Amino acid sequence: MIKITDIQETQTSSNPIIREMNEMGHEQVVFCQDQETGLKAIIAIHSTALGPALGGTRMWNYKNELEALNDVLRLSRGMTFKASISGLNLGGGKAVIFGDSKTQKTDALMKRFGQFVETLGGKYITAEDVGMTTRDMEIVRKETKHVTGIPMSMGGSGDPSPVTAYGVYMGMKAAAKYKWGTDSLKGKKVAVQGIGNVGTNLVKHLTEEGAIVTINDISKERMDLVAKQYNASIIEGDAIYDVDMDIYAPCALGSSINDATLKRLTCSIIAGAANNQLADEVKHGKMVMEKGIIYAPDFLINAGGLINVYSELNGYNREESIKKTEEIYHTTLEILKKSELDEITPHEAAKQIAQSRVRSARRN
Ligand code: NAD
Repeated sequence: MIKITDIQETQTSSNPIIREMNEMGHEQVVFCQDQETGLKAIIAIHSTALGPALGGTRMWNYKNELEALNDVLRLSRGMTFKASISGLNLGGGKAVIFGDSKTQKTDALMKRFGQFVETLGGKYITAEDVGMTTRDMEIVRKETKHVTGIPMSMGGSGDPSPVTAYGVYMGMKAAAKYKWGTDSLKGKKVAVQGIGNVGTNLVKHLTEEGAIVTINDISKERMDLVAKQYNASIIEGDAIYDVDMDIYAPCALGSSINDATLKRLTCSIIAGAANNQLADEVKHGKMVMEKGIIYAPDFLINAGGLINVYSELNGYNREESIKKTEEIYHTTLEILKKSELDEITPHEAAKQIAQSRVRSARRN
């Protein structure tokens, strides 16, 4: 991670941005600025070994440029792993736009962003992420064809969240099979943290199968709505980490698996949609394993949305997307077995498989 102190070091040693790019293996990082519209953005292309670098655009009120840069570098690398482990011919990329999406996003700004994407000539394909809507993607599309996640009414794949949730559900069932010898979630206590687009769809699958679901969100209104619709119980605030549960499903933000929460979590399985769930991939990955918790790697089981937008590139086919998303079940089982055999964390096992596919594509 780049720190402010690294900046001072640039005067005497190598540039921290270049150093970080080297360490993570990024191919290209593009800084975009337009004073007229106020656009400030970074596009990071981690890898194009398997195909064009696809990854959403996030608009966020970053504290500073370094925070944004760290975010885009980490997220774009995650996209390479996600595409690779899912068997897609796609590379990994991501874009971040600085600012508050509720107050600072304008059509002119999104248009200008689309022009920057176009300059990359298809090496980077953008999509929706936090702070973006399908309507924003429509505006971007006016400036570049290198965009996915277009509304269904325009021939696109629409909201990817239901497919993401289905993939998470598949990954969770595979983890259950590995842990308990059966993938039935009937009667299992599942705590879903974050009941937005993905979380709510996951709750639907879980309750349909007869799981006992507890939900948690920072929005009381949202919790009341979803609890009523799916007959789920509510747990407020960070008391979720103390709930009696078999499965913890983080579907809000990243880094919820950390020193503090691991002291409290008593689940047998962690399987959720959030990106970068482990605050520290290595340290917390190991701590999870030492506690005997089965961890279904986030970038593997939340790939349904990516699989869905990938389909859009070749003429959208929902059935095929769903079928491909179901493969997450078998890949999760494979990863968990590899993790046990090689005595490494599931996150590391998934990363190794993803990296080896990228390496062999580079060689050919
Ligand atoms: P969303 O914004 O629709 O939902 C997130 C929910 O989490 C919101 O209801 C929000 O109120 C809640 N939340 C935020 N902070 C919280 C906290 N501290 N405690 C409890 N709840 C909190 O987002 P989404 O599209 O449902 O995505 C959920 C997660 O899955 C994100 O991390 C996203 O990056 C990841 N993801 C989403 C997709 C997709 O297809 N949408 C694909 C891959 C990964």
